[in-house]
Order: sequence, then C-alpha cells, then structure tokens
Amino acid sequence: MEEVSSVFASDGSNRKKQINVELYSTTRKSIMDKLEILTDAAKYDVACTSSGVNRKGNGQDMGNCIAAGICHSFSSDGRCISLLKILMSNECVYDCKYCINRRSNDVPRATFTPEEICELTMNFYKRNYIEGLFLSSGIINNPTYTMELIYQTVFRLRNVYRFRGYVHVKGIPGADPVLIQQTGFLADRMSVNLELPTAQGLEKLAPNKHRKSILKPMRQIQNGIAQGKQELALYRNAPSFVPAGQSTQMIIGATPESDYQIMTVAESLYDKFALKRVFYSAYVGVNEDKALPAVTAASPLLREHRLYQADWLLRYYHFRVNELLDEKHQNFNILLDPKCDWALGHLEQFPVEINRADYTMLLRVPGIGVKSAQRICKARRSSALDFDSLKKIGVVLKRALYFITCNGRMMYHTKLDEDYITRNLLSEHEKLPFDKDGMTYKQLSLFDDGMENAAVFGMAMERNVTAHV
Ligand code: SF4
Repeated sequence: MEEVSSVFASDGSNRKKQINVELYSTTRKSIMDKLEILTDAAKYDVACTSSGVNRKGNGQDMGNCIAAGICHSFSSDGRCISLLKILMSNECVYDCKYCINRRSNDVPRATFTPEEICELTMNFYKRNYIEGLFLSSGIINNPTYTMELIYQTVFRLRNVYRFRGYVHVKGIPGADPVLIQQTGFLADRMSVNLELPTAQGLEKLAPNKHRKSILKPMRQIQNGIAQGKQELALYRNAPSFVPAGQSTQMIIGATPESDYQIMTVAESLYDKFALKRVFYSAYVGVNEDKALPAVTAASPLLREHRLYQADWLLRYYHFRVNELLDEKHQNFNILLDPKCDWALGHLEQFPVEINRADYTMLLRVPGIGVKSAQRICKARRSSALDFDSLKKIGVVLKRALYFITCNGRMMYHTKLDEDYITRNLLSEHEKLPFDKDGMTYKQLSLFDDGMENAAVFGMAMERNVTAHV
C-alpha cells in the first residue's frame, strides 16, 4: 500500500480525505512491454480529439495548449494520434462481449502505475512526440478503484510534474462522484462512453454496464462545467472544470440500430447533456459470440463516415435529425453525403440566390461551408457576388453549381433533376459504373453495397483490433 495523494471532501470543506492506493501490479513487466500492450489496447478508442482549450505556457511549468488544435494530428484513417493514447490497464473485471480486453479473453495483460504514465508522458512530451495524454482504462477491481488511479495519475502530472499540456481522461461509470469531480478540475476533457446507442443493446452486449450509471457521471460533468463557467465569470482565478468539455463514444454496427436511432440519441445527448462531441466507432469484430456480427463481417467504416458528416450538420449547420432521416428513411445514403442527399430530396427549395438567401439557407447548399457562408454574407454587403467571387471565397462550385444562382443566373445550363445531379455529384472515387443500359444509382445500390463492403473490409483488416473502454 502506498499513499499517493489526497482529495478534498465533496462538501467543499478543506477536510482532506486520505487516499491509499494499492499500486496494482500483477506481473513485473518492463515499461516497454506495458507500453506495447496498453497503447495497442487503447488505439481505437476514438473519443480523443483535443481542441477547445487555450492555455499558454507560464515559463515555469511544462507544456501549453492551443484551442485552434495544435494537439491535433490525424492518422490516415482519420483518427487523432497526437496524444499519448494509453490504457492505465487492460485488466478488466467486466465482460463486454465486443471487447478484446474482456475478462473472459486470454490476452496479455498489463497495468501501469500512475508514476509510470507520468514519466512516459513527460518523456514523450519533451521529445515532441506528443502534445498531451489520453488516458482510459479497463475496470481494475471496481470503478472507484480505477477512477482513483486515473485521478492519481493526473494529479501527479499536474502537481508533481507541473504538466500543463492537454489531458483527456475517461470518467468511469459507477465511480465515486468525488473522484470524478476532483479529476474534472485537473483534466481538460472527460468522456464517459455510452458504448451502445440503446439500453437494450447495452444489456445484450455489456451486461455489467447500465445506461443510468453511464448517464449519471455525464450529468455530473455537465453540471460541473456549467458551474465552473459561472464561477469563472465571477472570479478570474476560479479553477476551471473540464474546460474542453465532455464527449462520448458509441459503437456502430455491433447492434442493429438504424442511423436514425443513432443520430436521435446523439442529438438528444447534445441537447440534454451539452456534449462537445459524440464519436462513432465502427465495430471491429474481435470475439466470436452469438450475440455479435461474425468476426469476418465488414467493419462499417463508410457508415461511420456518414454518421460523422451528419453529426457535423447537427453541430454546425442547424440541421435536426428528423430533417435528414425519418421512420421511412432510417439509414443514410451510402453514396452521397447527408447534406447532398438532403438537398436532392428538397429540390423545391433550390436554386438559392446567393445575393439574397439568408445565412441558414446558405449553409444548406452543398459546397458551401460555415466559413464560406459567413464570407458570402459579409462580402455581398459591399457588392453583388458572381461565380468568380464565390470561387475566391472558397465555395466548392463543382458541388454548389446545381443549387445556386448569382444575380438570377445559374453557372451552367443544368437541370434541377435528382438523377441528373446525382450522376454529376458522385466524385470519380465514388462514381458508379453507369452502363449503356442506363442503370442509375438507385438500381445499383444492392450490388454497390457489396463492392463498398469489400473495400471497407479491406480497410478494416488493416486496422488492428480495438478495446472500447
Ligand atoms: S469495454 Fe471496457 S469495461 Fe468492457 S470489457 Fe472492455 S475494457 Fe472492460
């Protein structure tokens, strides 16, 4: 047993509660062995982007953070790699069916001590390999014990090593709320994984986890963030609580929920829990189990991509889920991004006159992003815009040209027709083999799905297995 540090009581008094942490070490592995096991085990927890915090170096402590995202870096498959992404432990007392680290699997196990993680983080940071830490863990003994180890790690990192870089940690459902609270004052971002979109899915695949116990720390963190903001407004030096906000992650494709159900859950999380991000993780089969898709089944990477695009529309483009999908159309068009798909389903709202349309309508035009829409609104105050000015502004004209007019004129003589625009919108990469017999994207969807799956399966095989902690 080793005394590591202390936390303050939840009633706000300065009474210190001593915490004794038994540093968990089952076998004596070298730090490199552990690093290999635990970075690999953490690799595909996708809830790890790092933007949202501004904190300058202070000349004494180590590190800094920039909200614009210098902590960001993305691997070729789009995942963030700039943080030291690591598990405290891949030991786990739970038995989630989809997880490589579940209790019943026979895999090499390892557990870091808080000190080891601090040393690794500092060494990697000094060598410029990373700009921060993303720390998650399997459940060692019980949720509170695990959260305590995570807390101890961040406490040391901040107070012993004086590390001011970005830190993202998991909130462990079922852990003592005091520990979650105290960790929130040290971390930049916290995430509590929803794991599966519905309570039924959770019951089926993660029997040790319960929807309520997941939502509880999420609510606690939300309240802490709101309170922290109020205090910061009153007192400049008030401690910040999870300043980069909280996020969550859902596994896609392990259970049969439709895109509509998944996006509805995401929308409700944004509305009710003020989440900064919802991450979607395409299911990768690693365990044989009757309750799971076959291990050889393709990982739904393209579906994951469409969900991210739709998520973007919810957060920045003022869309609501029921505009994109409904009971009759429960899944996204795999061939077109959700915004193009929406526009093609609402051709009666187009073409949009660039010099008159309001900001929210501009946002709905394929090829016009948030920045372009803002620039259009600003630029047209001084003079009417033409297609050349739109190009300079950054509008993607090859997509937008079917949906806009400038001073009452379209760019080319194009038809406002769904099939015609669809054919032209599909990029070379996504283009369907329109044959002499005039097959359309609708007719091809069955076969194409198989082709996409084959491609996606190939990509999935390149990815290693994941732990969804
Ligand atoms: S998902 Fe997390 S809690 Fe579930 S078995 Fe894996 S490591 Fe344990």
